[in-house]
Amino acid sequence: MAVKVAKFGGSSLATAQQFERVAAIIRSDADRRYVVPSAPGKAPGLNEKVTDMLYACQREAAAGRAEQARAVFARIAARYTGIIEGLGLSYDLAPALNEVWANIANGADADYAASRGEYLNGLVLADLLGYDFVDPANCIVFTADGVFDEAATQEKASALLSAHSRAVVPGFYGARPDGSVKTFSRGGSDITGAIVARAVNADIYENWTDVSGFKMADPRIVNDPKTIPVVSYQELRELSYMGANVLHEDSIFPVRKSGIPIQVKNTNRPEDPGTMIVSEVNGPAAGITGIAGRKGMSIFHIEKDKMNNELGFGRRVLSVFEKYGVSFEHLPTGIDTMSVVVQTASLNGREETIMQEIQALCAPEVIEVSDKVALIATVGRGMIRQVGTCARLFTALGNAGINIRMIDQGSSEINIIVGIDESDFETAIRAIYGAFAQ
Ligand code: ASP
Repeated sequence: MAVKVAKFGGSSLATAQQFERVAAIIRSDADRRYVVPSAPGKAPGLNEKVTDMLYACQREAAAGRAEQARAVFARIAARYTGIIEGLGLSYDLAPALNEVWANIANGADADYAASRGEYLNGLVLADLLGYDFVDPANCIVFTADGVFDEAATQEKASALLSAHSRAVVPGFYGARPDGSVKTFSRGGSDITGAIVARAVNADIYENWTDVSGFKMADPRIVNDPKTIPVVSYQELRELSYMGANVLHEDSIFPVRKSGIPIQVKNTNRPEDPGTMIVSEVNGPAAGITGIAGRKGMSIFHIEKDKMNNELGFGRRVLSVFEKYGVSFEHLPTGIDTMSVVVQTASLNGREETIMQEIQALCAPEVIEVSDKVALIATVGRGMIRQVGTCARLFTALGNAGINIRMIDQGSSEINIIVGIDESDFETAIRAIYGAFAQ
């Protein structure tokens, strides 16, 4: 029997009707033995996420505004009772709700409060499915300083879950050695799903959400872009780094290590194939996999005659960025030129200071900075073997009248990055998509 771990996002569990869909998905495949829920998210007529409400409730309580806190908590409780009633369950969530409220009212911290969204949802879902409830506070381990402890978690979680053939494990949190709750960053239920998948050595990690997989380009820019059927972990990492809004970035690592594929599926259209994320893609890939991009970049352009002969030049330039805590994103170089691409926001208005220090330390002939730059990554594992990808890309941009300010092709050869003016961003993405997505 295969083992599947199914993680459901907040919109998949926002209402009783969505819970029913989730239950039908789980019941349709006996291999779906471990289920990781998020907290109830938004739905038509319900425009607040329970996690956000819990943070707000805790803030009010911590500020001594007990009445306001109580009012927010009443709305949170109503979300759960609405779900339980809508499902026709006789489950009594009142003791758990009372305990959560008492703890928040008595000064529980933000992590504890936020984690209760998943905790309560897990109790309800376990009752609906007839699965065991496993509290991740007992098996997802953070150090006393709040750093996720991967090795201890793997050991504890695999031991604990092996005693449950079917279980619901709430997402988003674990605990420190003293038992205090610690959450992952926002969207962290994706990470829990990956941890559980690794711990039970799953055949697949299904990530159920409200879209039918990843699109080749941002649908807000390209009209009805194609879905990516298969993507490698490496490609996905490049796409999400460049701004494609996909899974929580840290959720890739636990499963990648053990080679477990992730399948992104749509709770509202379970028949759609979705996107499969795998470590190795078999067979040749035609064209490209996806396009993503980011605005808000600055390029420092540095020129110096015989730069290539000057030992330590690059290191000295970078030491200035390091001194000001600015990390570089890309570093394309020519023979006598070097560009340092950074996020404009990370400069905190210190462009001039940085340029002056580089001037003093390295004496370049030219140093200038361009702001309002956007980077666009065209990602595809097939590029290595395919002649003409660059030609197609640059022709598409040229035909669209777009001036390319920088080009960077990493050594992995699965990504070509171009720097362009921010004002050309949308046109460039449409042009590249048009050239490759026939
Ligand atoms: N509920 C948490 C959040 O809203 C975690 C998650 O949904 O993954 O960030």
